[in-house]
Amino acid sequence: MRADRLWMNARIATMAADQPGLGAIEKAAIACKSGVICWIGPMSEVPGALTAAATDDCAGRWITPGLINCHTHLIYSGQQAHAFEMSLSGADDGEIARAGHGPWSIVEATRAATIGQLVFQATRRLDVLIADGVTTVESKSGFGFDLWTEQKQLEAARLLPSRRDITLVATYLAAMVEPPGASGDVAAQTDRVCKEMIPRLAAAGLADSVDVVMGDRTFSAGQTARIFDAAVAAGLPVMLHADQLSHSHGADLAAQYRALSAAHLDYADENGAAALARAGTVAVLLPATSYFNRAQQMPPVKHLRAAGTRLAIAADGSPSAPLLSPLLAMNMAAVLFRLTVEECLLGVTRHAAAALGRAAHIGTLETGKACDLAIWDIERPADLVHRIGPSPLHARIWQGLG
Ligand code: FE
Repeated sequence: MRADRLWMNARIATMAADQPGLGAIEKAAIACKSGVICWIGPMSEVPGALTAAATDDCAGRWITPGLINCHTHLIYSGQQAHAFEMSLSGADDGEIARAGHGPWSIVEATRAATIGQLVFQATRRLDVLIADGVTTVESKSGFGFDLWTEQKQLEAARLLPSRRDITLVATYLAAMVEPPGASGDVAAQTDRVCKEMIPRLAAAGLADSVDVVMGDRTFSAGQTARIFDAAVAAGLPVMLHADQLSHSHGADLAAQYRALSAAHLDYADENGAAALARAGTVAVLLPATSYFNRAQQMPPVKHLRAAGTRLAIAADGSPSAPLLSPLLAMNMAAVLFRLTVEECLLGVTRHAAAALGRAAHIGTLETGKACDLAIWDIERPADLVHRIGPSPLHARIWQGLG
């Protein structure tokens, strides 16, 4: 067996489901052939016939799967720092909107941006994720509301892998923000999403999945179901922003449609948690949103755990919660939600892969899976969750490259 590359003398957290805990192997080696893991195990068991064109000595460093950030708003123009500044000085949402700095300003700036500008801005955000060892990222549209802008956002997403070595999952996000002084017509928007946007974006191959922001000021449960029906008809899996600001049975709807993931879930209840577990839908926790909102209501981790729902964690990188560090997201999930180190690491590896429907290819270090690695200068995996500050990433390998 001739590998392209062999990493020796490592400590490896495989995150594999058939091993307990992190699936740790001390004094381990991992070999790559054509971008795929061709051998992994203790160094004492490396086959005598295994040779490699290149060998790296990891000097006892830890290797985890390349991190997967499974819920991200990467592609938009504008920023919300002015709104943040005004809110800290006591302004309310109406005053911020009338001053031209509310969420609608992101829509206007994104509509005005060229694809080149969107790619440039998104690449800068992507580089922050990459510095934390991210090898797969999901990127949502959702700041245009019209076909042209949503298409432009998704085309920009499709261009990112030509700029950086990254696996990218593009999601069309149906969202709604009301223009200042006017009320959006959500019913008419639902029609456009179902009849125009999803069929066209799917036919153009621009979307891998469809997400909906369900809530009091965006799409209702009935409207979300219609959008999900259109996605299913177009052959696309669905995701949901669910139960973020109120208990609206979003988790139940996501489960009913066997959604890949349901995100936020701050107000989901025990029944919703159980429904997600039965459907195999991954709960995506976004602690930066809770942090920025100084939320009193936290996701029902106790019920999700009891039900056996898989938990993923993401840095959403949205204009209003612009965190782009999955390491800090893990720390926040541990501090705010009391997730364990094992839960945090599963949340950015195996469970994040499941949240994207990619569990067969990424998220664990096993023979036959993509050779996506993060190599860390740490003493123990808990360092990745505990520390705040510069990334301890030593090297990042994407499909054997890097
Ligand atoms: Fe989001």
